[in-house]
Amino acid sequence: MRFLAFLLFAMLVGMPVGDSSAQSAVLWMSVEPAQPVNGSPVLFRVWVDKPLKSLSGIWLGHRVTFEFDSASRAWCGLAGVELGTAAGSHPLRLELISTNDTRSTSIQTVTTGQGSYASSILTVDDKFMSPNADEQVRIRQERALKRDVFRRGSRQQLWKGGFAAPVDNIVTEAFGVRRIFNGRQRSRHQGLDFRAALGTPVKAMNSGEVILARQMFYEGGLVVIDHGHGLLTMYLHLSDFKTTEGSRVSKGQIIGLSGATGRVTSEHLHVGVRWQGTYLDPAILLTMKLP
Ligand SMILES: [Zn+2]
Repeated sequence: MRFLAFLLFAMLVGMPVGDSSAQSAVLWMSVEPAQPVNGSPVLFRVWVDKPLKSLSGIWLGHRVTFEFDSASRAWCGLAGVELGTAAGSHPLRLELISTNDTRSTSIQTVTTGQGSYASSILTVDDKFMSPNADEQVRIRQERALKRDVFRRGSRQQLWKGGFAAPVDNIVTEAFGVRRIFNGRQRSRHQGLDFRAALGTPVKAMNSGEVILARQMFYEGGLVVIDHGHGLLTMYLHLSDFKTTEGSRVSKGQIIGLSGATGRVTSEHLHVGVRWQGTYLDPAILLTMKLP
């Protein structure tokens, strides 16, 4: 009954496609959110009328790893749309491998829109705009460290179910806002800011492995959790750590206390969602029903 409900859902919102190249396999697909924009995480659910050994995809230049979800009987794959991606139709190339090792492909078209992103003007301590020689060395070392650590993500899915907010407070600045620091440097806000008084407990948004938990120049107290399949969550400006690098954490576990360390204008919690090297909107991830 549950499977039929899902199938009906897929046929309503998805794109039923008879796939000629897939050796008579028929597939249906749903896309969540239904109308992704630049900056969105995206979940593809694919139902196939035959058992498969594996399903993988390529979309917008990224590999999409699918895993079979027995609850919905769908193959689920997490993807994302970079902020710089223009609105339009983007082909998703799926490769199906049947239980007898027959390969077939299917091309699905997924349309993305343009998100509406505001601008804001910020003032921070001038040392963050003009770091001295020692600070520049530190910044370079930390950049190299992050590059190295972010590259070694788990190939297994470590998250379980939907993501939960790290604090129960309001959002004070959305993802993607165009920012001007001290009247000059321009950047995009690559995460989501929550109001958080000093010392507010910060919870892991989902289960995973802590790959960074240390003080950084720009981020201040930083915790990064690897959730597998290229998906990381990052928690910035912390005043204290309640976890250590290499630890496994579960959803809702307290990993640190909020603060005002690093490049900040005042105390708050910044969270980032990084997928395969690109930053995505945490607010959208928080609304998604993930397997
Ligand atoms: Zn922020």
